[in-house]
Amino acid sequence: MKLFFFLIFPLLVFSLEIKQTPIVFGEKRVDLTKEYIRLHYGIEAKNITIEPKIIVLHHTASDDFNVSFACLVDEELKNSDRPEIQAGGSLNVSTHFLVDRDGTIHQLMPLDMMARHVIGLNHNAIGIENVGSNDDLTPQQVASNIAIVKYLQTKFPSIEYLIGHYEYQCFEKNPLWLEKNSDYRTQKHDPSPRFMSEVRQGVSGLKGAPCE
Ligand SMILES: [Zn+2]
Repeated sequence: MKLFFFLIFPLLVFSLEIKQTPIVFGEKRVDLTKEYIRLHYGIEAKNITIEPKIIVLHHTASDDFNVSFACLVDEELKNSDRPEIQAGGSLNVSTHFLVDRDGTIHQLMPLDMMARHVIGLNHNAIGIENVGSNDDLTPQQVASNIAIVKYLQTKFPSIEYLIGHYEYQCFEKNPLWLEKNSDYRTQKHDPSPRFMSEVRQGVSGLKGAPCE
């Protein structure tokens, strides 16, 4: 009995409060995701399941939760939204989590399905968006990102890397990189290196981006 308690106790201590705040995730998003996988990765996918290897942190560049959520909720990218990525297909962008400024964690979609949030690596990556901009993300968001990363490490032992979106191009020569179109790149500055360093201080066992 005692042994049972000591085995179970750490699991109880590490319970993470996650609000389910789903984006629209119907047949259309699944079909558009398969189209994206075919177009960008040259894979005829029967499903959109992923085996996560990388966690990618982002910020939304808006201080408002509802504005941030509104960018991710629809299945299809709106024509006017993002001209720089419109050419990359009509699947809307999304991430698996969205963390509000007070640290509240929202899960937006199933964790084992592909989201569009990082060129070249979507098929290997879980994405975490944070409401806010460079250098104004809150200590509560740092704590919640650390908690999500730890939660994902236990859930998916396949995860090897933790990176900021601004580091994604470091993977271009890595076997995990899948993008076929060498002209399809966007410059990313999210989140800040300071935020990444604070989150990294709270976690262990993960590699950073393979930059030279
Ligand atoms: Zn980003």
